[in-house]
Amino acid sequence: MGRALAGLPSVDEVLRTDRGRGCVARFGHTQTVAMVRARLDALRAGLRDGPAPDRAEAAAQVAQEAEAALMARDATRMVRVFNLTGTVLHTNLGRALYAPEAVEAANRAMRYPLALEYDLETGRRGQRDDAVCALVAELTGAEDACLVNNNASAVLLVLAALGAGRETVVSRGELIEIGGSFRMPAIMEAAGTRLREVGTTNRTHLKDYRAAIGPQTALLMKVHTSNYRVQGFTRETTVAELAPLAREAGLPLIDDLGSGTLVDLSQWGLARERTVQDALGEGADLVTFSGDKLLGGPQAGFITGRRDLVRACASHPIKRAVRLDKVRLAALEATLKLYRDPDRLAERLPTLAAFARPLAELRALAGALAPRLAEALGRAVEIVDTSSQIGSGALPLETIPSVALRLPAPGGEADRLAAAFRRLPIPVIGRVEGGALLFDLRCLDDAEAFLGQLGALEAGPC
Ligand SMILES: *Cc1c(COP(=O)(O)O)cnc(C)c1O
Repeated sequence: MGRALAGLPSVDEVLRTDRGRGCVARFGHTQTVAMVRARLDALRAGLRDGPAPDRAEAAAQVAQEAEAALMARDATRMVRVFNLTGTVLHTNLGRALYAPEAVEAANRAMRYPLALEYDLETGRRGQRDDAVCALVAELTGAEDACLVNNNASAVLLVLAALGAGRETVVSRGELIEIGGSFRMPAIMEAAGTRLREVGTTNRTHLKDYRAAIGPQTALLMKVHTSNYRVQGFTRETTVAELAPLAREAGLPLIDDLGSGTLVDLSQWGLARERTVQDALGEGADLVTFSGDKLLGGPQAGFITGRRDLVRACASHPIKRAVRLDKVRLAALEATLKLYRDPDRLAERLPTLAAFARPLAELRALAGALAPRLAEALGRAVEIVDTSSQIGSGALPLETIPSVALRLPAPGGEADRLAAAFRRLPIPVIGRVEGGALLFDLRCLDDAEAFLGQLGALEAGPC
């Protein structure tokens, strides 16, 4: 002890270095001091027996370490990325992008006071969701609507409000897991309703539902098998077939649509997915769906349908626990308003625009990018046909013809190349397939930013 430690700078000496001052300006006094202390402690521990360092040099070194640690800690996890995976609605990459109108509405809601629960006519308290619920009713033809945090909340709320303490009848072929902890049997348990499974994995008949109905029955439920298909010797009982039985038994029929689109997607070359209007028209009493899947809006959950049932959900205590915040409510209203002008929807909603992007445009983009990418990387870049997926469990078997840049990389090299692209300032996420790294161009909206950063690509072992 003693001599070596005499060479240790004080916290103040470190803060007075250029780097130290820079850290205080950028990160503030409190966290800079804490970080400098931590670095000094580490230095002190390593110094016990060694020779005394030069105080000024040690101060500069500590400042540098503190700056590096502060910057590393400050780096955001919510990094913008290029989604070139070929999955348009990628749950891990944030699903749907907001339309510019929705971004603007969200921005306004964040920056200014707004008439959120305030009636401007009367100057009295108003209802938070009313305007947007009316818009949902207008677009879907539903009697009423209730808005919540996401579709998982919508399902939970419906089951708790209408099924608690009694049984909910579901086909064994529809006991889905969406991912994470969203498994239909677990949601039912959390909502306090008893799962009454009917039929088999591949075949469930109307008579199976009929036989299950008893004094304990609260609900009949259909769940869209959004992320898989049961194929072969199958029999699904449709909402249209179940509706008369539900009416005869006096039971609400719930249809969890999952993705929930409001428009016929076949006009953009996709398969025709049942719309919310279809489900209601076929006789579902309540339909639940997401805001950030095919709808192309913010994360949200919708409960639409019969007014008495919607009201029962809206007045349940769970509704308050899963309500939407003002920012998403504003973005949702702006997104839904675009649906009043369906002809221009594919120009204005980024998600639909990605689905509808013509193959010729993708080919032209690939043709322009491939030589520049090849030059920047000094390696071969091929243009190949590929298939994009919708993602988020919407239309699971449906693919859209697309175009990709293919970087052949045999052995384990493709993974290393993919990792190098993930370390770019705007990480590029592709997919590794058949000994190559593939960049599906369907979701590439800023080619110059993509190319402009390639100089930063680390010259790795590839
Ligand atoms: C996606 C999905 C959900 C969950 O919706 P979130 O908005 O992700 O909470 C529930 N049910 C079905 C059928 C789905 O496809």
